[in-house]
Amino acid sequence: MAKRLTKRKVVEEPASEADEDDDEEAVPESKSAKKRKTTAAKVKLQYEDDSEVEAEEAPKPAAKKRKTPAKSKAKSSQDTMPLAERTVISSLKKAMYIGAHVSAAGGVQNAITNAVQIGANSFALFLKSQRKWDSPPLAADARTGFETLSKQHSFEVHKHCLPHGSYLVNLAAAEAAKADQAYRSFVDDLQRCEALGVRLYNFHPGNTNGEAREAAVGRIASQLNKAHKATEKVVTVLENMAGQGNVVGSTFEDLRDIIALVEDKSRVGVCIDTCHAFAAGYDLRTPAAYADTMGKFDDVVGYGYLKAFHLNDSKAPMGSHRDLHANIGTGFLGLRAFHNVMNHGVVEGLPMVLETPIDRKGPDGKTVEDKKVWADEIKLLESLIGMDPESDEFKALDERLQTQGESERVKVQDQVDRKAVKDSKKGTKGKRGKKKAADDNDSDSD
Ligand SMILES: [Zn+2]
Ligand SMILES: [Zn+2]
Repeated sequence: MAKRLTKRKVVEEPASEADEDDDEEAVPESKSAKKRKTTAAKVKLQYEDDSEVEAEEAPKPAAKKRKTPAKSKAKSSQDTMPLAERTVISSLKKAMYIGAHVSAAGGVQNAITNAVQIGANSFALFLKSQRKWDSPPLAADARTGFETLSKQHSFEVHKHCLPHGSYLVNLAAAEAAKADQAYRSFVDDLQRCEALGVRLYNFHPGNTNGEAREAAVGRIASQLNKAHKATEKVVTVLENMAGQGNVVGSTFEDLRDIIALVEDKSRVGVCIDTCHAFAAGYDLRTPAAYADTMGKFDDVVGYGYLKAFHLNDSKAPMGSHRDLHANIGTGFLGLRAFHNVMNHGVVEGLPMVLETPIDRKGPDGKTVEDKKVWADEIKLLESLIGMDPESDEFKALDERLQTQGESERVKVQDQVDRKAVKDSKKGTKGKRGKKKAADDNDSDSD
C-alpha cells in the first residue's frame, strides 16, 4: 500500500494541545440492555474479551519525528505527534472521508487532535462518559476548543463528525423511570451535538428486554419524536446491530419500522456497521453479495436514510450474531468487502469510522493502544479506491491480511461451532432451551 500512498497529496497539520487528563474513557461498542444494568466496573470487563476499541489516552508508539509547534502545551509532544498525514480528499478518486472513533478524554476538543494525529478525515467520539448517567455539562472551553480546532484543521464537523451514543441508554425501555432516564441522557447528547455544530448522532436502537418487539419499536420512535421536538437539527442515526433475541436493529426491517414511526423523517438516518451487518447475516464479501445486501437496504430502508458507515472486519463468521470487530482485511469479511464499500458510488461523502481493535502487547507485556493501526487502516482503505481487485497489489494485500488474522478466525469459528452444537442440544429440550439460546446470542451482541 505504501507505494500508492506516496502518490497522494497530504494536508500539513500542526499538532495541537491536549491538556488535562480525566478518567473519562471511551469504549465504542456495548452489550445488551440486560448487561447495561451492570456496574461500571463490570461494563469495562465485558469489553475486554471483545477486542472492541478503547479510545483512551495511552502511551504512543514511536512515531516519525516531525516538527512540534512552539505553542503546544501538550502534556507530551508524543501524544499528539502525527502518525500519518491527512489525505487531501480531492486527491482521491472518490470523496471518501475515512476516520476512526477516537478518544475525547480531557474534553471533546481533544477528539479533533486525536483524529488529526491518525490522518483521519472523519471521526467519532463519545460526548460524555459512557459509564455514568450523570456527566458535567459541556464545558465552555471544550466547546470553543472544538470549534477552533475544527476550523484550524478544516473539519466539516456538521458532515464528518459522528458521535456515538451511550450504552446505558435504551430508548426501548418500558418502565417509566428508566425510559425517562434514557431520554434525558439521549437528549442531553443531542443538545451537546447542537452546541458543537455536529449534525449526525449515532446510537444503538435499543433492547426489548424480552417484551413485544412492536411495542419496543414504538417506544423508540416516540422517544425520538420527543427528542426531535426538543432539539433543532441533529439527525439521529440508528446503527444496525449484530445480535438477535432482544436486540432491536439487527435487521433492515427493524430499522425501517422505527423510521416509519418517526414524524420528522429529515431527523432520522442509518449507519451501517459492516461487522454488525455481516454477523447479522448480511453478506458483503463479493461484489454480487455486496450489491445484493445494499440493494436490500435500499428496498427496505432506502439509500436516502444512509448517513454513515462503521468500518470493521469481523472475527466471527457470517450470521453468528457475535459482535467481534477485527482489523480491516483480517477477519471473515476480508479485504474484498471493503473494496466493495470503497468503490460504491452511493456511499461517497459519508463519514466512515473505524472501530477496529488497536490494543497491542507492549514489550513489557502490558497492553498499550497503538493508534498507528488506525493511521495505517485509513491509508489502506483509501488505497482501495479505484484499485483493481484482480491486481497483484490487491491480491498480495488480501493474502497478507488474511494470514495475519487466521488464528483468530479459527479460534472464533471453533467457539461458534461449539455453541451451535450446544444450542441444538438445548433446542431438543423444548421451548425454554430455545429462549435461553436466543438470550445467549443476545448477550454477546453490541
Ligand atoms: Zn455502536
Ligand atoms: Zn459500530
